[in-house]
Formats: sequence, C-alpha cells, structure tokens
Amino acid sequence: MPSKKLAFINGRPQLVDANARVRSEADRQYNRVRNEQQSDYLKFYHSNEWKQLRDQILIRDNSLCQRCGLQASLVDHIVPSEDDWEDRTNADNLQALCRDCHYWKTRRETTKRKKGQHRAMKITVIVGYPASGKSTYVKRHQGQHDLVYDYDHIMTALTGLPLHQGNIDANDYVQLIYELILRKLKAEQSFDHVWLVMTYPDEKLESLLASRDVEHILIDTDRDTCMQRLSKQGRDVSQLIKAMNKLDEMKSENKFAKFKKIKN
Ligand SMILES: [Zn+2]
Repeated sequence: MPSKKLAFINGRPQLVDANARVRSEADRQYNRVRNEQQSDYLKFYHSNEWKQLRDQILIRDNSLCQRCGLQASLVDHIVPSEDDWEDRTNADNLQALCRDCHYWKTRRETTKRKKGQHRAMKITVIVGYPASGKSTYVKRHQGQHDLVYDYDHIMTALTGLPLHQGNIDANDYVQLIYELILRKLKAEQSFDHVWLVMTYPDEKLESLLASRDVEHILIDTDRDTCMQRLSKQGRDVSQLIKAMNKLDEMKSENKFAKFKKIKN
C-alpha cells in the first residue's frame, strides 16, 4: 500500500498519497496577495528611481558580492521588499550580491516564509528595574525555538567582560543589533517566541511592531528588593539609579497601562 500523508484541502484534514502535491490555502492566499501587489512590484523594478539606486549601491559596494566577495551581478533587498515594502528604497536595506549568493538567500527566505505561515510567533516585551528578575523570568518560560534579546548578555558577548559590566563604546553596537532585530522581526514569523528584555519600554519598538501582536510584561519587583540584590552583586548602583528613576517617572505617567504586572 502506498504511504499516505495528512493534508488540508479546503480547510479539512484528508489523507492523500505521500507524493501528492497539495497546495495549501495559505499558499493560495499568499499568491493572491502577491498577484495584487505584482503590478506595483514590477513598476518599481522598472522605474528610473530603482535603476539609479541600484547603480549607487553597486558603486558603494565596489561591485563586490557582500557575502562571498566575488563579482556582484545584482542588488538585493536585505529584508525582502515583499516583506517590507516601505523599506525598498532605503540604502541601508540594500546590498550587492552575486547570482549564487542571491539564489541561496532567496531559497532560505522562501522556506522561512512557508514555515512561518504555520507558526504563530509570540513577541513578549519584558521591562523592569535592574535586578528585578527579567532574565530569570525569560529563562523559566523560554522554549527550544525562541529568540532572546537581552542587552546584558549581548554586551557580554561583544566585549568578553563579565555579565553586567561592559564598556560605553560597545553600547552603540548593542543598539545596532537591537534595531536590526526589530526590523527583521517586523517581516518574519520564524520563531515560536521572541523575548525582548529591557529596562523601560521603547517607543521605536512599539511603532515598528505595531502590526504585530505584542505582549507586555512589567516585572514589578519593588525598588528596595532590587537595590539589595544589586549591592549583593557588587554592582555600581549610581548609574542604575538613573534608570530606576526613569522607570518611576514613566510609572507616574501611567505608561504601563497595557503591561501585565508580575511580582518576582
Ligand atoms: Zn556571492
């Protein structure tokens, strides 16, 4: 007997031959949207605006593939234009690539997009005083296929310094990583759960991820407890008090209305 697989046809589960090709509704939906956008899409790639931009980027990148260093033959959108239409003319989102590297990048993107359709990626923003227990909360709840942005851990990774130390010049680089992550998240569904750990809420995040379903958590450990923990860890509290004050100020301005408050 030929092997069978489970497929969804018009939304109903059915057993079909293992080698049958079933186009899921999600694919059809994707194609429909794509066809509607197709005319704008083609218009854009035939426009003088795009041709000029493409030449500029090739000059900027010395006509070298930004992945492998061989001769570049085209200009690629780092975040695909179909995922982020507004960013299609942003030079920071463009790079010269060779044909091979572009082929593999596009394949990875297509696979990711297909996987993403079956995934309901959750995004959780976690804020709170330093030493309130944010990282601990994430560790307790994170799964096997998650992405965690945690300022302190990235600082440690970039500088090789112990946790909660760092240097002021590396701060910009941690910030760059954060912004890249936000822009990529806007267009993707790759993970089960994304955790963004920070001291206080970030407005840039709110506007970039406005279209996404974002959960907000405030780890509401009281200030005295956090201070005790910080001094036990031997940390320099003078810098951290500023961050705590800012958080208090935001609390008094009622900036945490949509945050779920968790004691830790
Ligand atoms: Zn290449």
